[in-house]
Amino acid sequence: AKELGRNTYQFFSAEMNARALEKLNLETSLRQALKRGELFLVYQPQLDLASGRITGVEALARWRHPEKGLIPPEKFIPIAEETGLILPLGEWVLRTACAQARAWQAAGVPGLRIAVNVSARQFNHPEFLETVERILQETGLDPNLLELELTESIVMENVQDAIMTLTDLKVRNIHLAIDDFGTGYSSLTYLKHFPIDRIKIAQEFVRDIPNDADDAAIVEAILAMAGSLNLEVIAEGVERKDQLGFLHQRRCKEMQGYYFARPMPAEQLAEIFSRGLAR
Ligand code: C2E
Ligand code: CA
Ligand code: CA
Repeated sequence: AKELGRNTYQFFSAEMNARALEKLNLETSLRQALKRGELFLVYQPQLDLASGRITGVEALARWRHPEKGLIPPEKFIPIAEETGLILPLGEWVLRTACAQARAWQAAGVPGLRIAVNVSARQFNHPEFLETVERILQETGLDPNLLELELTESIVMENVQDAIMTLTDLKVRNIHLAIDDFGTGYSSLTYLKHFPIDRIKIAQEFVRDIPNDADDAAIVEAILAMAGSLNLEVIAEGVERKDQLGFLHQRRCKEMQGYYFARPMPAEQLAEIFSRGLAR
């Protein structure tokens, strides 16, 4: 038993070393990736069901590593957050997304909103507001067409400061959304204290509707309360017709998910804008 115990310990510590090393490697190469232009954005359409129109797109970061290939954001965003690299990375995402949205607007796509994910470290940085303003100025994008996505945990961390920052953004006409809604610890009642425009129902609750009674009840409650608080709602991760049916019946107007379109490069989306989504 002693033998086993020691071996087990060695096994874990070797694994932990390998992990720490992998992380360190990733950090180093992520730093280079930013400079070398290995990062790019894909865009996932958000649909208004009644009109069938694409009302917005969410920008999602991708990293094409020269040797390792495509690295998913779940792998590099947390490392970027831990190391502070999320600040230059996030700024790059914001600038690239705003420039792309401006280009689509110039190409004749009307009123298309661009949604950009903001991490805790970005949001809490004292120069966040200035950075956003500068990027809007540089790219010439109408602030109205920018939507910032923040998670519940970001805004709940320090409610008073969050309300101030959100208000600063709101008075500049920037759209604000709460991402992954329902996964945090907060109740809907806190929402009325925040100047937000919409909530995104987390994929985790959408996945098993209509069959899972608990999830169905949660989604129903979110939709009902959002309605009475006059908040816009979008459901994320819609993959099937039965999910769409359930959401539609309960007056969820906007949706995002593989059922409609996967995240895609800007060139591919441009084709869809000129042709329309085949659904
Ligand atoms: P998120 O903000 O919740 O983004 C939605 C994720 O769900 C995306 O994964 C998207 O590709 C995926 N998705 C969309 N529709 C469906 C569907 O119908 N079914 C399923 N199974 N998945 C769907 P992705 O692109 O891998 O991004 C993962 C997460 O990484 C994002 O979750 C976000 O938290 C983070 N992330 C991505 N890009 C950025 C970024 O530029 N900045 C920051 N701070 N975080 C980012
Ligand atoms: Ca998001
Ligand atoms: Ca989300």
